[in-house]
Amino acid sequence: MKNILFVASECVPFVKTGGLADVVGTLPKKFDKSEYDVRVIIPNYRCIPDKYRNSFRYIHHFYMDLGQRFSSVHVGIMEYELEGIKYYFVDNLFYFGGDRPYADTRFDIEKFIYFSKAVMAILPVINFHPDIIHCHDWQAGLVPVYLHTLYKDNPFYYGTKCIFTIHNLRFQGIWDIKTIRALSGLPDWVFTPDKLEFHEDANMLKGGLVYSDYITTVSDTYAGEIQMPYYGEGLDGLLRARNGSLCGIVNGIDYTAYNPETDENITKKYTSRSFKKGKAENKKALQQRLGLEVDENKFVLAIISRLTSQKGLDLVRYALDRMLDDYTQLVVLGTGDGQYEGLFRDYAWRMPHKVSANIYFDEALAHNIYAGADAVLVPSLFEPCGLTQLIGLRYGTVPIVRETGGLKDTVEPYNEYDGTGIGFSFANYNGDELLGAVNYAKKVYFETRKEWEQMVSRGMKTDYSWINSARKYADLYDSICR
Ligand code: ADP
Repeated sequence: MKNILFVASECVPFVKTGGLADVVGTLPKKFDKSEYDVRVIIPNYRCIPDKYRNSFRYIHHFYMDLGQRFSSVHVGIMEYELEGIKYYFVDNLFYFGGDRPYADTRFDIEKFIYFSKAVMAILPVINFHPDIIHCHDWQAGLVPVYLHTLYKDNPFYYGTKCIFTIHNLRFQGIWDIKTIRALSGLPDWVFTPDKLEFHEDANMLKGGLVYSDYITTVSDTYAGEIQMPYYGEGLDGLLRARNGSLCGIVNGIDYTAYNPETDENITKKYTSRSFKKGKAENKKALQQRLGLEVDENKFVLAIISRLTSQKGLDLVRYALDRMLDDYTQLVVLGTGDGQYEGLFRDYAWRMPHKVSANIYFDEALAHNIYAGADAVLVPSLFEPCGLTQLIGLRYGTVPIVRETGGLKDTVEPYNEYDGTGIGFSFANYNGDELLGAVNYAKKVYFETRKEWEQMVSRGMKTDYSWINSARKYADLYDSICR
């Protein structure tokens, strides 16, 4: 039996701001329980819904020193079991009392230094000895660093290895060395350019990568891209140096939560055989709900996304006027930068029967859009894996994507000559290419509907569940523990 601990800052169903939460909440359930005891630890945010928090079981609490500034900080440990997985929650109201997981960068840095150290201090208390600590993104970056410094001689951790998964290289947890040294209590010698130092600051993600035994990221293409300066976010040199212990394992999606056959959120359930009727009914219900013109012959294009520059929204802005002809409707669900929120609100205000801008987070509405739209647009500047295109495929909503990262690996483009492919794609970060891909999709949709339907059916039958990827993680755990 191997003990694995996932360390992350978010996890469904407790707290979610993006795809990281889906992965951390789903992957642990996919391992063979007789071989792998996988548990998860996240912060006990006050914004976790009460229906869960009220059932958390108190385990223990103690006081921990945190760097040079604080000598005794409260660490509470709560536990909850769901679908056979044990979740631990690090309790500290000062750090995790806000109404969302992340806010002010300086405070986030301190919050996740505390979190990483608390994780290391908690494991001996709950007596869970991990063979592998599987860290996710910069918020867990200091865990491998602590393991190799302050906890190096602690017999409890003998034999423990670290794997680090990069879900998004853009976010790194960077602050000045003096502050991070004082808050973390880490020795001076880790703040050198071959370890945590990064252009004279300290970089928590970099520390995690340097001190981990193996690095993964969430698609093959992204694993290659991040070793190049354009996508490397300043860490491409380090990642090239770690090339021998770096690989991509593509994310899956939760085929139980995202299933048009059983989804209670949607108007009409459907399968890969009954999607024609099913999707048409969901489309009408969606149009009605959002105040769009109710017409099943309109081409409904969806964007479900954080509204940030990563997601290629500059291209959408450039092409939008020409995308919105009389046969097309656009449904947006997302929050993020004011400039993009304003852009979609403005279009919805000017063309309420054609454009619907839903500037909030709403899981149930997301399901209704996946079920009711014809296509989902993901024109990202970079995309480590991307889940929206996978969810789209599951619901028979054809993805239109830029060929980067996981989008490139998961969406085989339509080929009209041999009748293959499950979506549409374009290569360069260019608004006219985006428009070309959307127009091609519309042409197939309006002029050769049979072809379109066959493509929908192929997409719905493609397997992007976790089965294959979980096996790859299991193989990796085995090879590292050997
Ligand atoms: P990222 O992790 O970069 O945000 P992903 O494509 O990996 O992007 O994951 C996005 C996830 O968040 C998907 O499950 C998508 O459906 C969901 N999502 C994004 N914005 C919203 C929103 N406003 N309301 C509901 N779900 C959303």
